[in-house]
Amino acid sequence: MNDKPYRPQEDIVTLMKQFNQPVRESPELPDPDTRLLRARLVFEEALEFIKGCGCTVTMTMPGKDGKEQTAVIDDIGVVLDPHGSPDFAEYVDGCIDQLVVTYGALNAAGVKAQPAWDEVQRSNMSKAWPHCSVCDAVLERSSGPELVHPENSNAHHGDWQTVLKVHKRPDGKFIKSPTYSPADLKRVIAEQILQGKGA
Ligand SMILES: [Zn+2]
Repeated sequence: MNDKPYRPQEDIVTLMKQFNQPVRESPELPDPDTRLLRARLVFEEALEFIKGCGCTVTMTMPGKDGKEQTAVIDDIGVVLDPHGSPDFAEYVDGCIDQLVVTYGALNAAGVKAQPAWDEVQRSNMSKAWPHCSVCDAVLERSSGPELVHPENSNAHHGDWQTVLKVHKRPDGKFIKSPTYSPADLKRVIAEQILQGKGA
């Protein structure tokens, strides 16, 4: 357990700023590129959740012989509609409704959000490269979870901090740090099950 308050929106501001994604300080409907990106991400995550539920998405359409045919969709294409009418209030309503159904799904499964959230946030932030604030060396993983300064157990007499930096390929794609580790949600769930049993 840690004493970190549960502030998911602020955590995502930290994440977005770390990975150079624009964050607005006051309300404004995002530009078309940003709306398309956000719409795609929502569908991508919805599809992942649907698969996690043991469900699949199907679409029924008329076949060549006139009979209806049902197809399984496992990749969803989201594109900007040139005749679409983006609506700021609907944008916000859609976001909040997703929070409502998401917390509903967590409650239906008896899972507390915060420990799982913290683990996912930790994993996402670990995609950035940890550097030494003094000499810029990339930190390394030791035997435990903590990161250590390379080559020197008493680097800079201990007077240094960790600075997170993003590394990109020439084409602009982010490169995951060598110290990245995926979110271990199995562990988080197992801990909550144990706590539920009063352990
Ligand atoms: Zn250093």
